[in-house]
Amino acid sequence: MKILAINAGSSSLKFTLIELPQKEVIASGLFEKIGIAGSMYTIKYKGEKHVFEEDLPDHSVAVNKLMQALIDLKIIASLEEIEGVGHRIVHGGQEFSKSVILDEDVLKRIEKYNELAPLHNPANVMGVRAFMKALPGVIQVGVFDTAFHSTMDSVQFLYPVPYAWYEDLGVRKYGFHGTSHRFVNKEISEKLGRNDLKVISCHIGNGASITAIDSGKVIDTSMGFTPLAGVMMGTRSGDIDASLIPYVMKKLNKTCDEVMDDLNKQSGLLGISGVSSDSRDIEDAINLGNEKALLAQNMYAQKVANYIAMYNNLLNGADVITFTAGLGENSIMMREAIMARITSLGVKLDKEENNFRGEFKCITTKDSKIPVWVVPTNEELMIAMDTMELKNK
Ligand code: ADP
Repeated sequence: MKILAINAGSSSLKFTLIELPQKEVIASGLFEKIGIAGSMYTIKYKGEKHVFEEDLPDHSVAVNKLMQALIDLKIIASLEEIEGVGHRIVHGGQEFSKSVILDEDVLKRIEKYNELAPLHNPANVMGVRAFMKALPGVIQVGVFDTAFHSTMDSVQFLYPVPYAWYEDLGVRKYGFHGTSHRFVNKEISEKLGRNDLKVISCHIGNGASITAIDSGKVIDTSMGFTPLAGVMMGTRSGDIDASLIPYVMKKLNKTCDEVMDDLNKQSGLLGISGVSSDSRDIEDAINLGNEKALLAQNMYAQKVANYIAMYNNLLNGADVITFTAGLGENSIMMREAIMARITSLGVKLDKEENNFRGEFKCITTKDSKIPVWVVPTNEELMIAMDTMELKNK
C-alpha cells in the first residue's frame, strides 16, 4: 500500500511516498517558497533529484503539481495507487491523544488550537485541505506532535501559576516531538523485546526535547507550553527565568515579540557561540580553539545531562537512554560530552563503539548500569504507519 506522509509549513511542503508494510521509501521531496517569489520543488526518485522552478501561488497548486509530477516521472501509474495521506499536525491541544481520521469537522476542532501554534497549525491544516481537494475519497489522517505526551499527569504538566490560567487559558505543558519519541520508544522496545521499558528518550536536533517514558506512556517531557522550553537548542534558549524578558525589553527598548524572537532564533548554540546554530560548525570552531564554541557545546551537553539525571529519578531508575535526531544520531563529540556528565548514574561510554553516525547501535560498555542506544528516528514512517492502521480498521 502506498501512503504519502506530509509535513506542510506556511511556505513549504515536505512529502515522502512510502510503500507499506515493506517500509520502503519510494520517493520524497520538498516544495519551497509557496506563495513567495522564487518558488521551486525537488523530487527524489531512484537516486535522481528532479528540480522544478515553477510558480507555486498556494498549497493547492503545490499539491496538484506533486500529483502531476508523480505521474509524469512514472513514480505511480495513477492517483488511485495512493491509498492514504498522513499529515503532521503540530498541536492537538488536550483533545487529541492519538492519530485521527480527518474530515471538515475534525479540522475545525484542530483550528481551535491555532493560537497555541500560530506558525504551524494553520499551515498544517491548509495542507490537509489541499490534499482533500486533490484526492477526494482518500483517507486523510492527522498525526499530532503533542499526542504521545497526553498521558502526562497533572503533577508534571501544570505550571505553578494561578490555576485559572490552566482552566481558562489552557496554560500547561503540552510537549512536542511526540511522533519521534513514540517511534524511538517502539524501535528500542522491539529491539530489546520488552514493552515495559523505562526509557529516557533524547531527541536532539535543531530543536531538542528529552522525554521520560514508562511502558509506552510519557511521564514527563522537557518542552512545554511551546517548543521554546526545556534544554538548550540550536537557536532556542530552553528554560530561562521569565523575569529576564521585561528586563531586556526595557534595557534594549525592544517589544515583547522582538525579545521572544531573540529567544527563539538568536539564542542556544548560536547565541552563545556567535558562530552557528549547526553543531558541525561548532565542532569545527572548537577544533580551531574557539572558546565560545566550546562553552556553547559544554552548556548544551550539561542541560541535556541535567534532564537525564532528573528523569532517571522520576522513573526510579531508567532501563535505557536513547539518542536520536541530527545531533543524537551524528554528533560523536556531543554524545561523548553528554555521557561525560552522567557518570554518576553508572553510565559508561564505549568510545570505540561511539565512533559512527546514523546507525541503530548501543554505545555503552557491557558493565554500564544503564545502556545507551543511538536510535535513528523516522517520523515520516510513523505517520505512514498510523495512516495504514486507521485505513485498515
Ligand atoms: P531538525 O530539528 O530541524 O529536524 P535535525 O534533527 O535534522 O534538525 O538536526 C539538525 C542538526 O543536526 C544540525 O543542525 C547539526 O547541528 C546536527 N548534525 C547533523 N549531522 C551532523 C554531524 N555529522 N555532526 C554533528 N552534528 C550534526
